[in-house]
This record gives sequence, C-alpha cells and structure tokens, in this order.
Amino acid sequence: MIETDILIIGGGAVGLSCLNQVPPHLNRILIEINPSFGQEASSRNSEVIHSGIYYPHRSLKTEHCKIGRNELYRFCQGNRIPHRQCGKYVIATNQKEEEKLAELVSHCEYEIVPFQRVGSDWLKRKLPFVKATAALFFPLSGVFDSHRYLQVLENKAREKGAVLSYRSEFIRVLDRDPWVVEVREREQIIQIRAKVLINSAGGKAAKISNNVLNTDVYEHRFCRGRYFGVKSFFQEPLQVLVYPVPEKDGLGIHLTPDLKGNARLGPDADWSSDLDCNWDELKPVFLNQTAKYLPELKPENLSPGFIGLRPKLFVRGEAHSDFLLEAHGKYLHLLGIESPGLTASLSLGAEVGRMIEKIM
Ligand SMILES: Cc1cc2nc3c(=O)[nH]c(=O)nc-3n(C[C@H](O)[C@H](O)[C@H](O)COP(=O)(O)OP(=O)(O)OC[C@H]3O[C@@H](n4cnc5c(N)ncnc54)[C@H](O)[C@@H]3O)c2cc1C
Repeated sequence: MIETDILIIGGGAVGLSCLNQVPPHLNRILIEINPSFGQEASSRNSEVIHSGIYYPHRSLKTEHCKIGRNELYRFCQGNRIPHRQCGKYVIATNQKEEEKLAELVSHCEYEIVPFQRVGSDWLKRKLPFVKATAALFFPLSGVFDSHRYLQVLENKAREKGAVLSYRSEFIRVLDRDPWVVEVREREQIIQIRAKVLINSAGGKAAKISNNVLNTDVYEHRFCRGRYFGVKSFFQEPLQVLVYPVPEKDGLGIHLTPDLKGNARLGPDADWSSDLDCNWDELKPVFLNQTAKYLPELKPENLSPGFIGLRPKLFVRGEAHSDFLLEAHGKYLHLLGIESPGLTASLSLGAEVGRMIEKIM
C-alpha cells in the first residue's frame, strides 16, 4: 500500500496547478491515465488567455478567470513561457448583434474589464478581411504556449517533491477516512491510501465523483469544439483575436493567432463526444457560419485541425453552467471545468490549496 497526504486525480492544467498549491509540509501524488500531462482538454483548446467578459456576475468562472488571467500573465513572464497580450476584437455584423455588444459593454463596466469601442471604418483599416458594423476591443486578452505552461507546472511540482504517476488510472474507492483507492498502474492494480482526495479529472470527473460519493447526481455531457487551420488568407500573419458575438454553447467560431504566426478557426459547438470528423463535410458549415464576418474565406483556405471536448455539467439532470468546486469532507472535486478553465487554472489551484489547509 502506498501512503500519501494528498492524492490528485488528473494531470491537466487544473490538476497540475492544484499539485503546486498543496501546502509544503504535505506530501502529494498525482495520477494520470495518459503517458504524459495535458493530453486531453488542456491541449485541445484555443490557448486564449481570457479577460473575463462572458460569464455571469459573481460566478466562479468570472472570479477565477479575472484572478487567473492576471496570475497567468505574471507566471508566463516569470517563467519565460511564450505569450502575447495581443487583445481581442468582438465584432457585430448587424443591428441585433450591436445590441449584444451593448449588453457586453454594460457587463464589462460592471465587472471592471477594460474595453474600447471601435468603429467599422477603423476596423476596416486594421482588419481588412473582416466585415463588421461595430466592434469592441479587449486589451487584456492574449494567447500563450499552453504546453510550455504545463511543462513548467510539472517541473515545479517535481522540485517541490511531488510524485507524478503516469499511465495510472483511478478505478474506484475501496475505503473512506482515510481514503483507500484502487489504481491501475500500467498493468498492475495497486492501492493508494490518502488523507485528502482531489478529483480534477476533467471530462471524467463527474463519473469519479459518483463513485466516490456513492451517488448518481453528477453528469458531464460533451459538446465538442472543432478547429480548422487557416492558410493563404491573410496578407500579413494574424496578430489579434477576432470573435463574433457569443453564442449559446460556446463563444462563436473565432479566429485565433498562435505564437508561430499561424491562425486557426473554431471551435464550433456540437453536442457530441466523437473525436472523428468528416472535415470536408464540415467546411461548408464553417464557411456558412462565419460568412457574415469573414465573407472572403474559401474552402481552400481551411485545413483540418483538431477536436476538443467541453464537459458540460448537469447536476440531478439540471444544467449547471458554472464551475463546481466543492469539498465533501476530505474529498474535493472540480466539475464542469470548461472554458475558461485554462485561464482560471492558477486561481482554481490556489483555491484548492486554501481548502486543503482548512480541511487538514
Ligand atoms: C474546444 C475548447 C476550447 C477551449 N479554449 C479555451 C481557451 O482558449 N482558454 C481557456 O482558458 N480555456 C479554454 N478551454 C477550456 C480549457 O481547455 C479546460 O477548461 C481546461 O484545459 C481543463 O483542464 P482540466 O485539467 O480540468 O482537464 P483536462 O485537461 O481534461 O485534464 C483532466 C485529466 O484527467 C485525466 N483523467 C481522467 N480520468 C482519469 C482517471 N480515472 N485516472 C487518472 N487520470 C484521469 C485525463 O487523462 C486528463 O489528462 C477550451 C476547451 C475546449 C474543449
């Protein structure tokens, strides 16, 4: 039997951040199914540092996004993680969308997220490929190298004495207080005894919570987001984020520059967990959905990209659109960690660190 104070399930951005925030006097183990960190949602996303404009007032998403965004910029600067605070345009293409921009303005004034109003003429000069009637510019948004970020978190955790066990899958709980859990480590079944159990298993976290808490109230339903690469479309490499006004299940298919001068278009919001896709059939759908603001985009400009899964949380069958971070005795879980989970990850980890101090 392996013994530890803290056992963390899941080596994505959130699990690695939690691992770094465990109080120093406690020993800690992180288990991760995959052969390395961050191979699920944490590496299949837009790599955008969000400013915190989309989520309801007092929601955990708003709170952790705003704190996490500042922390993340500082962390990137302090650890030489490539990033660029390039800013983001949210654009309207008609009167109805301008009304949505006006709602965004009131929300940002209330949340104290800085923005500038931009007229269509100025936008035409700045982004000639975009068709818009009005726009807002958010200077705090940016992009970063999320893989490097996770690598730094992993290195720092190891320096603090953490054990990271890859190819190790949480199977089930065998005993409580202290926790004894069954883990498949490569081909072997082992047991780990821990005082505190933390579930940051991303899309699988709801199932794990049902097992640990002996319930069936938590469910993640998946909404996939697909991306295309964009080629031979811009006269100069895209330097800024370009978003339409937000949609119901996602932020709208947007243009994101990466740090190498490439651009991607996506994600859409499709209620499915299928990681296969007929990219040729999807092209006209993307072109149709973005034609209102990218009228010149052609099928030959799009190349197949990748797919990320958003775990949408339902509790007792009801949609729970915020993050859910709860302690049940000495069990902590993080459920519904969809966007802006990457931006919020340092703040979520710090909150988990404070919760561990209270529990122990
Ligand atoms: C399409 C898309 C675009 C996004 N864009 C952005 C963005 O631009 N900016 C932003 O801030 N956020 C974005 N997000 C959200 C962000 O990517 C996620 O919220 C964040 O990566 C979640 O991190 P996580 O650690 O909770 O989950 P994950 O990265 O999924 O990590 C969970 C880990 O748990 C492991 N695991 C699962 N079950 C077990 C088990 N039984 N035993 C051991 N390990 C287990 C998994 O293998 C996985 O590695 C986006 C998400 C999607 C899907």
